[in-house]
Amino acid sequence: MGLMLESTQDVGSSPPISPQIYAPLLPEAVRLIAVSKQVDVERMRLAYQAGIRDFAENRVQELQSKRKQLEDLKDVNWHFIGRLQSNKARKAVQLADWIHSVDHLELAQTLDRLAEEEGRTPQVLLQVKLAEDPNKGGWLPEDLENHLPELVQLTHLDLRGLMTIAPWGLDEAQTTELFQSLSHWTKRWQSQGYRQLTELSMGMSGDYPLAILAGATMVRLGQAIFGSRTCSPAS
Ligand SMILES: *Cc1c(COP(=O)(O)O)cnc(C)c1O
Repeated sequence: MGLMLESTQDVGSSPPISPQIYAPLLPEAVRLIAVSKQVDVERMRLAYQAGIRDFAENRVQELQSKRKQLEDLKDVNWHFIGRLQSNKARKAVQLADWIHSVDHLELAQTLDRLAEEEGRTPQVLLQVKLAEDPNKGGWLPEDLENHLPELVQLTHLDLRGLMTIAPWGLDEAQTTELFQSLSHWTKRWQSQGYRQLTELSMGMSGDYPLAILAGATMVRLGQAIFGSRTCSPAS
């Protein structure tokens, strides 16, 4: 495990591939999603030139504005990773190719209805909460398991997998355990017949090596790519 653990410290010392953009080397099977919240579009273009094809935003407004400004970049996949209020759900359906943060049944049903109306089929991840964290939404796994039969009936959503956010303050062992736990739930549900749950979106700049070791298929990296948000020229 030792190899990959110094993610955050390593970031600063690995050579930038363009000015102020870092692209961590990941196993081929892991999709690198650049979390571009608070990052200006010029720096996003640099990331694109460096090979990034997946950008994630956590506010619908910002997603809308950036998608518009970068509409010439045709092969970008846009991800929504923030808490989604139902009054923003239609915009999210119009703008996002992936929605990582579907955290309750009514939201899933709303998105399904809007997707039908908009003629879109967003790829959807169900956000799971594995540790108590008052700041984070998400299904408790047992609760999600009870709702899977209903969720797979929502034919205008392309259900792809699960997402989680590790809460602040866990040590490496606890973080690893949390990511492994999501891996175990996925395997359990796949074996129950929910074979579409193949994606595991877990791991951020501070913990992605642990997430990859635990089976992540997508990591969501902001600061590891763009540097600290608080010092970035955009914020
Ligand atoms: C901001 C954010 C990230 C990226 O965080 P970094 O620490 O910058 O890598 C990942 N996932 C979600 C849900 C976020 O809101």
